Amino acid sequence: MKKRQVVVKKSNSNRTSSASMIQRIRYGECQKNHAANIGGYAVDGCREFMASGEEGTTAALVCAACGCHRSFHRREVDEVVYEGSSTSEI
Ligand SMILES: [Zn+2]
Repeated sequence: MKKRQVVVKKSNSNRTSSASMIQRIRYGECQKNHAANIGGYAVDGCREFMASGEEGTTAALVCAACGCHRSFHRREVDEVVYEGSSTSEI
């Protein structure tokens, strides 16, 4: 018995030969200086931003762990490269 491999081609695939790159943004430790008003320096020790609400709401910009705005957290950008067929359309 022979096995056959079937390749399904999607007619709506907008494929290119080049690899696509996607940037994923993560937010690291909180860097808000809570002692700025007394001339000192103290961070709250929050290690990673966790959205306290769903994306698209204002709560998504507030850290659930420390309550600070997302902009206080260190921004890290991951570059992810997808080669070959990609379903994302950029
Ligand atoms: Zn914080």
